[in-house]
Amino acid sequence: MNKGICHFCGLEKELIKSHIMPKCFYKLDEYGPITLYKPNSKESFIGKYQNGLTEPLLCASCDTRIGKYDGYANKLFYKKLPELKPVVKDGKILYLFTPKNFDYQKLRLFFVSLVWRASISSERFSLGKKYEPMALKFLKQGFMENDNLFFPIIFRKNTGTGLDFMSSMYGRKLYGQKACVFRSPNYEFIIVTNLEKCTDNNAIAEIKTRCSEKCLIVEEQNTLDRYDFKLKNVLLQCTATKN
Ligand SMILES: [Zn+2]
Repeated sequence: MNKGICHFCGLEKELIKSHIMPKCFYKLDEYGPITLYKPNSKESFIGKYQNGLTEPLLCASCDTRIGKYDGYANKLFYKKLPELKPVVKDGKILYLFTPKNFDYQKLRLFFVSLVWRASISSERFSLGKKYEPMALKFLKQGFMENDNLFFPIIFRKNTGTGLDFMSSMYGRKLYGQKACVFRSPNYEFIIVTNLEKCTDNNAIAEIKTRCSEKCLIVEEQNTLDRYDFKLKNVLLQCTATKN
């Protein structure tokens, strides 16, 4: 056991090995030890993790407190969504949730907890001095005060390639704004730090319709996007170097 200051309660306690990305999202039972793509890391790009990526960040009670959002999101994306019948709109395959079948605040707090954990970990992604304390504040009070912050854009990946099953976490820019991307089997979650600061107003308006008190829209992607191609190339290079 590790003694240290818990990032959540601020007290000196025994710290447990917290999962930065929830363990249930790796789907270890189905896919075995994961390959985690870490593009910004100084260490090797690909690591094998039996148990997911962990670090001593929180005391047991704070880890449990945040963990309730993990369980909720896991159920929503891996149980409820596959049971939905997708709709096709403007050539896009969409999964729609209404307030009847999703809890907006719980879902938003799940994404806040994801980026916050990534930010306080030793991984290269950081929310910075302004946004990291805000994320912690939202988690402590249990509701979002500003819907533009830590905004999630969610894709269900069904491209028929190995990229659909990767687990990964990395920072990127989206419309000029910082975002943290989490990938787990069948999903890509892009969490934009501050949607209001994005440079494209039309894009912001469209993105906002995807997650609100009124509905949640998850788009299915059947083809690789520009970023997927980039990932694919890096992964191929890593494999080549390792062999
Ligand atoms: Zn604590």
